[in-house]
Amino acid sequence: MYNYTKCLLSLHFGCKTNIIFAIEKQIITFARTKMPLSSTLIQWYQTYKRDLPWRDIVDPYKIWISEIILQQTRVNQGLDYYHRFIERFPDVTSLATASEDEVLKYWQGLGYYSRARNLHKAARQIVSEHDGLFPNTYKEVIQLAGIGEYTAAAICSFAYNLPFAVVDGNVFRVLSRLFGVDTPIDSTAGKKIFKQLAQEILDKTQPGLHNQAIMEFGALQCVPVSPACDECPLADKCIAYSDNQVSALPVKRQKIQTKERFFNYLFIKSGNQTWLQKRTQNDIWKNLFEFPLIEDEKLLDKNELIQHDYFKMLFSDIQSDIHIRSVSPPIKHILTHQKIFAQCVLIEINAKSKKWEQFVQIQIDELGNYAVSRLMEILLQNHLG
Ligand code: SF4
Repeated sequence: MYNYTKCLLSLHFGCKTNIIFAIEKQIITFARTKMPLSSTLIQWYQTYKRDLPWRDIVDPYKIWISEIILQQTRVNQGLDYYHRFIERFPDVTSLATASEDEVLKYWQGLGYYSRARNLHKAARQIVSEHDGLFPNTYKEVIQLAGIGEYTAAAICSFAYNLPFAVVDGNVFRVLSRLFGVDTPIDSTAGKKIFKQLAQEILDKTQPGLHNQAIMEFGALQCVPVSPACDECPLADKCIAYSDNQVSALPVKRQKIQTKERFFNYLFIKSGNQTWLQKRTQNDIWKNLFEFPLIEDEKLLDKNELIQHDYFKMLFSDIQSDIHIRSVSPPIKHILTHQKIFAQCVLIEINAKSKKWEQFVQIQIDELGNYAVSRLMEILLQNHLG
């Protein structure tokens, strides 16, 4: 225990040392009870756990897919995606040999598309560096694209029973409350403390089960708002509960800054033809398709649009052959760090411009074959029904 405290103290430079002593005291309390912390969590888990397809399996590929889907997605929404994804890409090879466009199409609607691009990249890495066999050491797993400490610990403990503790949002919450730790979970010191603490309480004989138990406990019992503490099997040892600090923990330091953006999409129509572009910049929705876009500091009305330099360039050789038919009502689309205001301008043309090499010309009824953002999906639904 002394080493652990010493270690925490060294990590915790600049933070309140009374937190360290409180943690140490709490660990001793758990160690002295008849039912250690991990056993209580596991017993609770075996009674209340949800029946989910990625539970009780040891296939690292399926565990990996489920963990990546669940990173930013609720279980209910993720289930359908998981089943469809696994049906189409049942193993590393099928994922590695698919095109990125197809993988993105299967991901459409889930958001955070870098997850899908990294899955695809990592599958190719596994084929080229590990002969298509999923690596079985933490060191190798964490080298794969898109896999951080949390996902590597989850895969290694669930699939191979390796002793690596997971620390996700649920674990932060459970530990900060049980141990009464108010160090911000998004600070460097906080991340180190919670990682050490999670590792300290890990049942090394059954790390996979322990990790699943603590995450499920956070998801179902020690929930963010108004947990049912009076029904909690750990209530008599929970510092936050005894100190009436449940709603104050965990502490987060940073407020997310949101940026406003204004997207003027051009739905260019010629009979049954339209044009799409692929987003290739390092920005949201990279490698997804969308209508040609004019991003500006505001949504543009018809006159402002006609005067816009990019619009003038796009249509300079067919000026007399274009008709702006309508400008849709604005739509507000919220992402974690961005608030996007978008509108769709319907433009009919009688002649095709020669300046559109960057666009893909397609039949309107083929739009469904392309991976698009949720915002584009909404715009398409509004325009095409
Ligand atoms: S008593 Fe309440 S706050 Fe403490 S672990 Fe249980 S549910 Fe969470």
